[in-house]
Amino acid sequence: MIKRMTCILCPNGCKLKVEVANNEIASLEGARCPRGEKFAYQELNDPHRNIATSVLVKNGDIQLVSVRLTEPIPKDRIFDVMKEIKKVTCTAPIASGQIILSDVAGLGVDVISTKEIMNAVN
Ligand code: SF4
Repeated sequence: MIKRMTCILCPNGCKLKVEVANNEIASLEGARCPRGEKFAYQELNDPHRNIATSVLVKNGDIQLVSVRLTEPIPKDRIFDVMKEIKKVTCTAPIASGQIILSDVAGLGVDVISTKEIMNAVN
């Protein structure tokens, strides 16, 4: 069986053509580096994704702060994590890299800000 996928481990976004036989990678084409095979293996067996979204901010100079996860999570848990993130509102000031939500959905991964938010100027 041939599977096609895009490696998302770096901005190159290599288009991978993976031949799978007996649940193993029999051959791989299109990867520009060895990480492509590692990505293909995980994608076939236990796909993970990161999430980039935003959270509401109180008293900030803007009303949303961009956030991401500290590590990719199993793809089938994205809905659970988004549900938890949607419940959160944080208060300015917020530092870039600040933990917004710890151990989200019990996955051992944090939600962190990717932007600094200052207090609103009155
Ligand atoms: S195979 Fe290597 S070069 Fe290509 S997207 Fe993946 S990490 Fe980047």
